[in-house]
Amino acid sequence: MDIDHNCPNCKTEPETIMHAIWFCKRAKDVWNIWSPAKNISPDNTWTSKDLLLQAYTLLNKHDLSIFLTLIWLIWNNRNCMIFGRHVKASAQLPDWALGRTGATDQRWIPPRNDCYIVNVDAGFDEEHGSADVSIGEAVAIRDGVSLALEANFTPFIIRSDAKVVVDYFNSNIKSWNEVALLAADCSLLGNNNQCLGYHFVSRNVNRVAHMLARKALVENCSEHIWVESVPSDISHIVMADISFIFY
Ligand SMILES: [Zn+2]
Repeated sequence: MDIDHNCPNCKTEPETIMHAIWFCKRAKDVWNIWSPAKNISPDNTWTSKDLLLQAYTLLNKHDLSIFLTLIWLIWNNRNCMIFGRHVKASAQLPDWALGRTGATDQRWIPPRNDCYIVNVDAGFDEEHGSADVSIGEAVAIRDGVSLALEANFTPFIIRSDAKVVVDYFNSNIKSWNEVALLAADCSLLGNNNQCLGYHFVSRNVNRVAHMLARKALVENCSEHIWVESVPSDISHIVMADISFIFY
């Protein structure tokens, strides 16, 4: 029997555990954007045990749990690809890991009486071409801002589960990448009395926005607006969110 030992992702190298979780391009895409990984620098003589020991030595407890979750997510993505299931975009994995490990918010919190909450999310599908996840998430925030202004839902707070992008929007450091330009765009759209801030929330509490983004992707629709109604396939998530309000 002819067995292909090459990596199912890059198809250029034999697939070892270290290749799959560290050296493969898909894994590298994750480690390059999660900054604590910069201190870990394995060479190709390392085993996965060496990698774990190094991480255990260098990382604090919180980062170590994110590190282990990322390894699991990278491996899970590899399995999803082999078995034809949905593969998460590499750049989204750090946010997924944060949502699973670091999040203390487990339920959707309603806004104060004097402001609105705009939950946003972007949907990605690697099978139909790759998109820059950070730019997609930043566009989702900008769309949220302009929709809230258009509908006069002011003042409002934006909530997104893309931590890296939210940090950019809140940062005073000016740079000239696309995410920074979209952030600058948002500050021109509305003033500080209209948009009260950009907050990071875990995926657990951004599920309605997440499901709507997935729905838009699957149904290939450009714009859909529901006023005082909820699409039936999302209503159970909306009910789960608001059920906490009544306790
Ligand atoms: Zn590979």
